[in-house]
Amino acid sequence: MTPQPNPQVGAAVKAADRAHVFHSWSAQELIDPLAVAGAEGSYFWDYDGNRYLDFTSGLVYTNIGYQHPKVVAAIQEQAAKMTTFAPAFAVESRSEAARLIAERTPGDLDKIFFTNGGADAVEHALRMARLHTGRPKVLSAYRSYHGGTQQAINVTGDPRRWANDSGSAGVVRFWAPFLYRSRFYAETEEQECARALEHLESTIRFEGPSTIAAIILETVPGTAGIMLPPEGYLAGVRELCDKYGIVFVLDEVMAGFGRTGKWFAADLYDVVPDLMTFAKGVNSGYVPLGGVAISGAIAETFAQRPYPGGLTYSGHPLACAAAVATINAMEEEGIVEQAARTGAEIIEPALRELTERHPSVGEVRGVGMFWALDLVRDKETREPLVPYNAAGADNTPMAAFGAAAKKSGLWPFINMNRTHVVPPLNITEAEAKEGLAALDAALSVADEYTV
Ligand code: PMP
Repeated sequence: MTPQPNPQVGAAVKAADRAHVFHSWSAQELIDPLAVAGAEGSYFWDYDGNRYLDFTSGLVYTNIGYQHPKVVAAIQEQAAKMTTFAPAFAVESRSEAARLIAERTPGDLDKIFFTNGGADAVEHALRMARLHTGRPKVLSAYRSYHGGTQQAINVTGDPRRWANDSGSAGVVRFWAPFLYRSRFYAETEEQECARALEHLESTIRFEGPSTIAAIILETVPGTAGIMLPPEGYLAGVRELCDKYGIVFVLDEVMAGFGRTGKWFAADLYDVVPDLMTFAKGVNSGYVPLGGVAISGAIAETFAQRPYPGGLTYSGHPLACAAAVATINAMEEEGIVEQAARTGAEIIEPALRELTERHPSVGEVRGVGMFWALDLVRDKETREPLVPYNAAGADNTPMAAFGAAAKKSGLWPFINMNRTHVVPPLNITEAEAKEGLAALDAALSVADEYTV
């Protein structure tokens, strides 16, 4: 329901926020958070009555949009019945959520360990890998984001790691493939793939395979720029893991639960990891929930020996009820198929056309409802619109782009020199077209910063 404008309440909400809320990843006095009055479907409203089309799905998690009636009702029913219960018990919504997830994860990833979100899922996946192999190290990609807790931020490549890095004991980073900004001087996807795999294998050999517990990768790296791996890369990593006895962890916190037009991005590449992390889309983030899907072999390690780890709210009944309702709604309403279709028929052609027409768009990448525009100062040199800068990003052109988008009612996802198009999977065609038109107008502002 569209909220009534109420600037006075908005001002009070904002004042209390500024006085007392300590925000993530922010200099507290330099930020200016919008006070949000309400949200429904693909839209949200501020207290002045301005409406925004959300091309960010929150933080890429409201996969079925805001206030989906079936999920809201399921949360209300669970709250009335049994709001919470401790993890060491069998609880209906928990068992049912685990069953629905295990039925959809690839291969024999049939046991589900529940966490409160993505970062702690990564923490536990890596702990399981270390205990399973008895080895200390983890290999991760430079262009990655795996979460804000200590181990998760250490395996993250994103510069946000720098201030948090404890010296990364046991963490070794490598370059995953990304042809547009190739580290391997490759000119084709085939070359990029072959050279990235050769680089990974030599990293494994120089580190000592018997010291490496796990390789962790986002199936499709999200925050770092939605770089689809070339055909054959993930299968090649799977082979290297098998050859050297390394646990293959795929992080599907962002890419999972329909974002790519498949239940999991791993399905796009027919690859089955040993452990797979998820969060966000599992219940559209209506109640915090994440987890690790565990293969038969790793589950076996902890069949007779206790798994030394847990969380008070593991498999929280309210969060699990939201997951059950979300997954059922996605099935009933064909939302995964809708994401694939809207992506292929509306979003992709429009973004390709924008890339042709706007000098500021260097490359478009993506699949399903998971797209990035790589904005550049110069299409020839591919110099990013935000120059890479160790002290942080000078984001003036991106701020101007963002302001223009918001002026036309579009809330854009902006990271470094990129804008990601990651709307709810069930956005309507008309809404998608409205957002794309606003994006077109905002890109004209970015064009002004090109050479
Ligand atoms: N892994 C990936 C791939 C992510 O995108 C994120 C969050 N953006 C995380 C892990 C961390 O999840 P959370 O913020 O729920 O801890």
